[in-house]
Amino acid sequence: MIKITLPDGSVREVESGTTALQIAQSISEGLARNVLAAEVNGEIIDSFRPITTDSTLKLLTWNDDGGKSTMWHSSAHLMAEALEALYPGVKLAIGPPIENGFYYDVDFGTHSFAQEDFDKVEKKMLELARTKSEFVRKEVSKADALSYFTEKGDPYKIELINDLEDGKITFYTQGNFTDLCRGPHIPNTGFVKAAKLLNVAGAYWRGDEKNKMLTRVYAITFPKQAELDEYLKQVEEAKKRDHRKLGKELGLFHFSQKVGSGLPLWLPKGTDLRMRLQNFLQVAQKKAGYLQVITPHIGSKELYETSGHWAKYGADSFRPISTPQEGELYMLKPMNCPHHCEIFKAAPRSYRDLPYRLAEFGTVYRFEQTGELHGLTRVRGFTQDDAHIFCTVDQVKEEVGKVIDLVLYIFKTLDFTDFLAQVSLRDPANPSKYIGSDENWDKAEIAIKEVAAEKGLKTVVELGEAAFYGPKLDFMVRDAIGRKWQLGTVQIDYNLPERFELEYTGADNQKHRPVMIHRAPFGSMERFVAILIEHCAGQFPLWLTPEQVRILPVSEKYNDYAKKVSSELENYDIRALVDERNEKVGKKIREAELEKVPYMLIVGEDEQAAGTVSARKRGGEGDLGKFSMADFAEYVNNEIKQMLA
Ligand SMILES: [Zn+2]
Ligand SMILES: [Zn+2]
Repeated sequence: MIKITLPDGSVREVESGTTALQIAQSISEGLARNVLAAEVNGEIIDSFRPITTDSTLKLLTWNDDGGKSTMWHSSAHLMAEALEALYPGVKLAIGPPIENGFYYDVDFGTHSFAQEDFDKVEKKMLELARTKSEFVRKEVSKADALSYFTEKGDPYKIELINDLEDGKITFYTQGNFTDLCRGPHIPNTGFVKAAKLLNVAGAYWRGDEKNKMLTRVYAITFPKQAELDEYLKQVEEAKKRDHRKLGKELGLFHFSQKVGSGLPLWLPKGTDLRMRLQNFLQVAQKKAGYLQVITPHIGSKELYETSGHWAKYGADSFRPISTPQEGELYMLKPMNCPHHCEIFKAAPRSYRDLPYRLAEFGTVYRFEQTGELHGLTRVRGFTQDDAHIFCTVDQVKEEVGKVIDLVLYIFKTLDFTDFLAQVSLRDPANPSKYIGSDENWDKAEIAIKEVAAEKGLKTVVELGEAAFYGPKLDFMVRDAIGRKWQLGTVQIDYNLPERFELEYTGADNQKHRPVMIHRAPFGSMERFVAILIEHCAGQFPLWLTPEQVRILPVSEKYNDYAKKVSSELENYDIRALVDERNEKVGKKIREAELEKVPYMLIVGEDEQAAGTVSARKRGGEGDLGKFSMADFAEYVNNEIKQMLA
């Protein structure tokens, strides 16, 4: 008999060789029908594979990332089977799952596979899925594997097998299709109820341009048609909200090949928006006791040797810069933490100085592959809303609590309502992996869990996800169209204080080592603005948006009055622009709506005579009626005050 520990901590004793699927069946038939794969001792395997040792077991369904990726990986086999049936003689390369769906790299020979082929392939996939063919795993010798694919005539698989070690090769077969694969797979093809080919692109075999260009076929599958419909709707919506498109339309930022890939240029309107976000956070941080600092964009190589960043990331970073005479080496700053450690060390510290909270909008540079770059979400230079809190172990709980308060305030103000906290702790099976004493780890882990509960956060705990230097809490946010983003991180660190030999004098007059907490509620200004643009579809909250009001004179005759209105609003801290063009007012309204300006003020004969404005709100709300300028300013400023409360 072996012991199986389930996620709720309950333990079941079963015969050695029992499968996860059988255990699911013993819990409930309904559950068993939804099991796609199993996580056994942290490794995802087929739910139909025998378990032979004492294990922790998590049954994976469509609701788990591991369940989805197993389904999509299996669907890649299903698509390959369909392609072989429809295009005899195709050669298959690799077919992994990706974040949304999967792809297969295929050599179609002389056929040029395109959009017109999609429908046929989708139909064939569903036809094969309905046969509910089981995925059968088989261990094969290298010689047998080679002879199978030699006979089939698939040069790509042969090349892959040649790189594998004998004794570790497995085949999976479903229906009439066998693939070289490590697995895992879903029990049978019947789980696939909806399939959609999404895209084709060229891809060099093994990513090497010296090799043949293959056709990469992207697709996605779902266990229900309704979920596919929902997904496609979301993709359409995401396209409309793409921050790269909106960023251009709204004049927020720009990329220039001449400046360099992944190096965003913030345009005046974007800069205005970013500065406002920074000010907002700075005000909140000041209230929370942070001290603002500024550090340079580079640091000596020795600094990063001390911090450990050089050993860990040096090879994948921008090459160091050297001084012309002495050849001293400097690195572009990949993180602000080492600089802040040196600020801590700038003076002797006592327990009375703690917690010591240093904040910096620090710009850092990290090398990313060209193919990884994406708008503002993946760039090579970005500004973190960084801070480091130096405190005692006993202060960790209160400090983490304060950071959570700050993050919640930001979420509320920017209308992120759907989020949860992911708490990453040590792997209890592998305690030697971590730096710092067990006692300190226990204290910090308990503190994080307790404070997350006290703040009423919806929490998931991930064992083994902590960094080697400390536990952490990440906020996972769902945006307006249901996509998940990681925002806001709080990380405990026992490592850097050790490496930098940070000390403070305790009440006992002895030297002690502080704990360091890294935190960044936005993450980076670039990524956060990108997420915010997509979350609000470019309709920024009133307090944040660069142009709060647009004044629309009904003809050029009233331009001067419009300008007077604009400068008066400026006195009330309201940001307004005048549309002075000689255009019909209807057209001006339409364009202001398109550019997501929250308020429009129409001015003409009556308004000029009475010293008033006719206000309109963007979206469906339309006319608000006539206001004196003071009343309109009060109306807008009240709305902002409520938002920032
Ligand atoms: Zn596979
Ligand atoms: Zn840090």
